[in-house]
Amino acid sequence: MTSAHTDPAPVTVRVPAKVNLELLVGPLRDDGFHTLSTVYQAVNLHDDVTVALDDEWGCSVSGQYADVVPTGSSNLALRAARLLAEETAVDTPVHVTIAKTIPVAGGMAGGSADAAATLVACDRLWGLGLSTEELEEYAAELGSDVPFLIRGGTAMGSGRGERLAPVLARGSYHWVFAISDIGLSTPEVYAECDRLRGDTSPRAATPEPNSQLMSALRTGDPHALAPQLTNDLQEAAVSLRPELGELLSSGMEFGALGGIVSGSGPTVAFLVEDVEAAIDLTVALTATGAAREVRKAIGPVHGAHVIPARVD
Ligand code: ATP
Repeated sequence: MTSAHTDPAPVTVRVPAKVNLELLVGPLRDDGFHTLSTVYQAVNLHDDVTVALDDEWGCSVSGQYADVVPTGSSNLALRAARLLAEETAVDTPVHVTIAKTIPVAGGMAGGSADAAATLVACDRLWGLGLSTEELEEYAAELGSDVPFLIRGGTAMGSGRGERLAPVLARGSYHWVFAISDIGLSTPEVYAECDRLRGDTSPRAATPEPNSQLMSALRTGDPHALAPQLTNDLQEAAVSLRPELGELLSSGMEFGALGGIVSGSGPTVAFLVEDVEAAIDLTVALTATGAAREVRKAIGPVHGAHVIPARVD
């Protein structure tokens, strides 16, 4: 270990998960990605990522999902640290510790969130003084969702989702996330979406954000937002896992204002009226046993930000 008295103190960054209020999928590009138009909202399901100087690069993960997150070179957080070091000519290794509460492989961008948090934490630890714009550029090299998780709030994403523009959104929204056990990989869902569309894709080459969604967000009224929630990947996710269709119907029957598959799934996000409705829906969905876990959340919240170090 490097001696503590001369080293900068470890830096901890809290980072949210995301839900896509709208996810419009255009045709497949030559580089293998789809052109997207999306509206992200950051929600307060968080991971805390701590970076500390060490003699070698390393990563460890704690929390209920620790078993299913790799700690080697495929961990997105470790990749983020190494990318930033390479790009800024830093040769000081760090150990990345992830306290994970964002569901893994749930369409909530947990790995991307950890990468975003690591960029912000390493910038502080190494004293690089990079701007948010510079960090977002490095973030885009790591994944389509990573820049948004630095920015947070509510924002539009175009390109692969990495090109961000601000959205005027008022108020706070209450969400209930039903997290299921059924595996569903992002490439599998995009492939099914392409298959279902066949050669008759109705989408224009560049999907455009829906102006009614933008108007709804300006009202701050969840009743206005609920009917505008759209996910072009939902049909594919439900086609692959019909249980998700049943879960969506149950949530609506139990009083949700709107329900949507989150990103590529399998998590289902329900928009509800207020905190009481969130508690009621959480209890009702938990009782059905249709989801492994049901969690309440509020959005929008801040993107990756430094917090006082954990003392546990
Ligand atoms: P997205 O919404 O961006 O499609 P997701 O929420 O569905 O992502 P993640 O939680 O990011 O999925 O995890 C996808 C896979 O990435 C996991 O199965 C895991 O093996 C791998 N992975 C690599 N690094 C991490 C990390 N730091 N946290 C979680 N998963 C990671």
